[in-house]
Amino acid sequence: MPNVLLLGGTTEASALTQRLAAAGIAATLSYAGRTHAPRAQPVPVRIGGFGGVEGLATYLREHGVTHLVDATHPFAATMSRHAVAAAHEAGIPLIALTRPAWEPVAGDRWTRVADIPEAVAALEGPARSVMLALGRMHVEAFAAQPQHHYLLRFVDTPDTPPVLPRHSLVVDRGPFTVEGDRALMAAHGIAVVVCKNAGGTGAAAKLAAARALSLRVVMIDRPAVPERHETHDIDAVLRWLGHAVPSGTERGV
Ligand code: NAP
Repeated sequence: MPNVLLLGGTTEASALTQRLAAAGIAATLSYAGRTHAPRAQPVPVRIGGFGGVEGLATYLREHGVTHLVDATHPFAATMSRHAVAAAHEAGIPLIALTRPAWEPVAGDRWTRVADIPEAVAALEGPARSVMLALGRMHVEAFAAQPQHHYLLRFVDTPDTPPVLPRHSLVVDRGPFTVEGDRALMAAHGIAVVVCKNAGGTGAAAKLAAARALSLRVVMIDRPAVPERHETHDIDAVLRWLGHAVPSGTERGV
């Protein structure tokens, strides 16, 4: 019987957790511990880093993990790199459950950049209202462009106030709607939205809202991760675990 370690922190990981529990597959869900009150889950949860590749490989061995599923966020590249190396070291198979990246559609005004420093550089110029839809970890870098007024949206109230001289803070963990995001952007007079190419539907409302308002979007491309077995499909993960799921079944997850 499989004994799965699922690296989570995403809506996909939560959806997969539900399916694993429903299928009676033993699994532990792992969080980094960045969010104060993660949603209740139907499988055991562990919280906190493993201590690098060695720590994760040791965890896999000591807990008799047979399958490692990486369903972390596409920007959690360190964790994903560690997962590939530790699975190799522990001699267990790994699959990554990811979301397809977003692609621009008609009406989008994207500037694509490689990383946070390039996103900061792309904001060179006169003062504007800029929405940073990035999470709290990368906000500090934008202090290098202090002329702008920044709108920040975080999942939790930060322990220390953001260092940006001019900002407004909204605490909201979604789900977000196109209408809601459009109203928020209009109310704050937003001219530019900065975001990561997270992909998926949950975080896409801001893109549709920016399109509707004809706003510029600075889109940060995904970091590189090593080659690995990867799928966008929860059913494919269950099949990979040896659980019979008929092909082509719509599950609506
Ligand atoms: P990261 O930079 O790739 O990871 C940094 C360290 O955090 C890892 O080396 C690992 O510590 C620990 N870690 C990360 N994910 C973990 C997990 N699921 N379980 C246990 N330890 C974990 O990751 P990050 O960008 O800080 O993201 C942290 C978490 O937030 C991830 O679970 C991710 O799915 C979620 N998340 C991230 C973003 C984002 O934009 N980056 C957005 C939404 C959600 P050790 O080396 O000590 O093992």
